[in-house]
Amino acid sequence: MGNAATSESREGLPSHHVGDGTYTMPLEWGGEMKFPSATDLLALQVDMAKNRPTIPTSEELPVVPIDWELVNKPTSHETIQYTWLGHSTFLCQIGGFNILTDPVFSERASPVQFAGPARYRPIPCTVEQLPPIDIVVISHNHYDHLDYYAVLDLFEKHKNATFYVPLGIKQWCLDSIPGIERVVELDWWQSHTHETTTAHGNIELTFLPVQHWSMRTGRDRNHALWGAWALVYKPNERDSPNKVLFHCGDTGYNEFLFKEIGEKFSRPNGGIDFAMIPIGAYEPRWFMQPQHVDPDEAMMIAKEIGAKHCVGMHWGTFILTCEPILEPKQRIEELSKQDPKYFITLKHGETFAVQ
Ligand code: ZN
Ligand code: ZN
Repeated sequence: MGNAATSESREGLPSHHVGDGTYTMPLEWGGEMKFPSATDLLALQVDMAKNRPTIPTSEELPVVPIDWELVNKPTSHETIQYTWLGHSTFLCQIGGFNILTDPVFSERASPVQFAGPARYRPIPCTVEQLPPIDIVVISHNHYDHLDYYAVLDLFEKHKNATFYVPLGIKQWCLDSIPGIERVVELDWWQSHTHETTTAHGNIELTFLPVQHWSMRTGRDRNHALWGAWALVYKPNERDSPNKVLFHCGDTGYNEFLFKEIGEKFSRPNGGIDFAMIPIGAYEPRWFMQPQHVDPDEAMMIAKEIGAKHCVGMHWGTFILTCEPILEPKQRIEELSKQDPKYFITLKHGETFAVQ
């Protein structure tokens, strides 16, 4: 009877909707991510305690002052300009739009501010110092991507910001941030056009599947969706080309998904101009592989989605795993030897313009 109820409730729903309010990786993409057992979690704690990485010096992993002149007045509306604010947080600027990805500004990526992973590099600026934010994209609800205090601050100090979130997170926004209205919640493959009268065009946002999971309270595994964001900037001037930005969120490598994403964005939009791809938090592999790519897999994703320029994220900010902290950056440099501008990493606070 249980089975009959399940199959009935799934009818008419997309295959990643379980039907009980939770989400899953559908079978055609390999099925649900394997979840670790209690024994695995214990073994991970032991690995982490034995192999805790050392913090690099400030010469090895610098934080540079933000070039406010450049950030407040980008040199061109047709160029994508981006600034790394640590971990998966970027300020991306195109066509007069200011876009913020996975904003985390708190000291700790944790439910509480007295325990949990603390940042070993400071955030290079405050929410208040940012130029007026138009669009905030959030990839999923893990604490190193969804920071309550950052969302609250953005809501209070950037009144025009619209928050784009995965299915299941709009209710969290409404419950946590009284008065918040501009929240758009999307399912995988759904799109929404962000219109404005102040910029030089519009941006179409599409939420996309990646191989990961979600949890906020410990009792809500996969109650909200997780994913990547594609943002297609469409300028008003007819002869200017579209620009496509891609923020990958957190993901394990999946042999189907990224090829499909590449297909979707290569033909109609001229390809992904700029991709933010995770390169850190991958050791021990026996535990992390299903949910976090390593630099070699990040490079495979870059190629499969057909990205023209990539930056590494999800490294150098919080200790979440046990690979040496600079290893992801060094490995990406090795992999990009032939074409050093293809896949880069930035200093904290550094700004780069995609040429
Ligand atoms: Zn995550
Ligand atoms: Zn993460």
